[in-house]
Amino acid sequence: QAHGPATKMPEEMDKPLISLHLVDSDSSLAKVPDEAPKVGILGSGDFARSLATRLVGSGFKVVVGSRNPKRTAGLFPSAAQVTFQEEAVSSPEVIFVAVFREHYSSLCSLSDQLAGKILVDVSNPTEQEHLQHRESNAEYLASLFPTCTVVKAFNVISAWTLQAGPRDGNRQVPICSDQPEAKRAVSEMALAMGFMPVDMGSLASAREVEAMPLRLLPAWKVPTLLALGLFVCFYAYNFIRDVLQPYVQESQNKFFKLPVSVVNTTLPCVAYVLLSLVYLPGVLAAALQLRRGTKYQRFPDWLDHWLQHRKQIGLLSFFCAALHALYSFCLPLRRAHRYDLVNLAVKQVLANKSHLWVEEEVWRMEIYLSLGVLALGTLSLLAVTSLPSIANSLNWREFSFVQSSLGFVALVLSTLHTLTYGWTRAFEESRYKFYLPPTFTLTLLVPCAVILAKALFLLPCISRRLARIRRGWERDGTIKFTLPTDHALAEKTSHV
Ligand code: NAP
Repeated sequence: QAHGPATKMPEEMDKPLISLHLVDSDSSLAKVPDEAPKVGILGSGDFARSLATRLVGSGFKVVVGSRNPKRTAGLFPSAAQVTFQEEAVSSPEVIFVAVFREHYSSLCSLSDQLAGKILVDVSNPTEQEHLQHRESNAEYLASLFPTCTVVKAFNVISAWTLQAGPRDGNRQVPICSDQPEAKRAVSEMALAMGFMPVDMGSLASAREVEAMPLRLLPAWKVPTLLALGLFVCFYAYNFIRDVLQPYVQESQNKFFKLPVSVVNTTLPCVAYVLLSLVYLPGVLAAALQLRRGTKYQRFPDWLDHWLQHRKQIGLLSFFCAALHALYSFCLPLRRAHRYDLVNLAVKQVLANKSHLWVEEEVWRMEIYLSLGVLALGTLSLLAVTSLPSIANSLNWREFSFVQSSLGFVALVLSTLHTLTYGWTRAFEESRYKFYLPPTFTLTLLVPCAVILAKALFLLPCISRRLARIRRGWERDGTIKFTLPTDHALAEKTSHV
């Protein structure tokens, strides 16, 4: 079995991978020492070239097998030997198969030379191929070469990352194989190259490993669709109220509002409702537990999924709120705004009014702007702490304080921001255009329901019961106990 050079510690991985003794005075790669472990690569394409560069830079001796070595030799580092396939596979114990699945069968003529060796399958199927073949590329390769040990690895690493070095890209390399020794050998090579091997078990996991690069932000699909759906609905509603109604009933052309003004009235609605949807599933889960009198019954699938997507929904809410802040900053820059100001001044002069100061309006605006800034600031804190590097530095209590308590504070601040924005407008008849209530009154429904429910759960009779359920008490079950008098302590330890 071929083994890589001594395993590097994480801090060592931050050092340049190309060690000095491998670089010539003319800064080209020097000939690696004879005792360096030899690795074979079949194929001379993009991936093979990057892999050869990284392997040479990590102290391995590389031999590349090509159908036409003369044509491709110049593209490889000078330390790598480029030769015919038969010659390339004769001495190394580990051989990377950097060719596409449809060409695996063309390598069958090498079966005898490859017998007993480790073949590393780096291939990635396209989405169509993945659906078409039930058997993974690695299992297919193993079926073509039954005398070899196939290891699936490095498929999630792009040729670019290999060339640039792991510092600039994804460091994790999922590895799977039916042979633990072969898996260990390839894992050591990955470590030596500066990557983090992740053991994915037997070769049966290869299909899952091959599906990894095909995924496109899977956890974001539903939350993004939800945000888009809300955006479309609120945009349409605001369009009807702010553009269509003046056009139809007052013959006023307000279509210029579509790109900025209507978008800016839509974004806070989406941000606010999304934020309430982060806390609604927790409320529903608590209500369900109270009704069932136990926490040992599974939540319905939809609620389970909803609970799992809260982070993404919260981040999308922050994104919309941040856009709303930016759009609001831009509002005075619009030409329409300047015309409005001038028109107001002219009207004031014509009406011979010198003072337009309305104390209540001034106060209202000061307060709602301040509440909006505070809500956005709190949301930013939530967004920052959801970053894995920061979340990992917090203990469970700190994380739950920020995400649960501060998040709820952000929801309350947003509600106050919306209420001070709306002020008495909900009670003015002129605000009901086409008999449609002002948009802010609609957005208040879910958040207010969530805040009300949370307040109800704070009532001692309910919070005590909930705390007992979350500590394992069951209404009809066998686990019966009384909580210590300080039931707030029990609540703090709850993980729901
Ligand atoms: P590529 O540039 O097209 O190279 C494929 C190589 O396969 C050719 O250069 C050719 O080398 C060799 N080959 C051997 N037998 C062949 C045959 N019968 N017909 C045609 N070519 C044959 O592709 P690549 O981007 O390097 O990808 C190679 C493998 O790495 C694929 O399985 C891919 O999924 C995987 N991969 C690539 C990347 C990436 O970023 N490119 C990332 C992860 C995984 P010779 O002509 O010298 O024989």
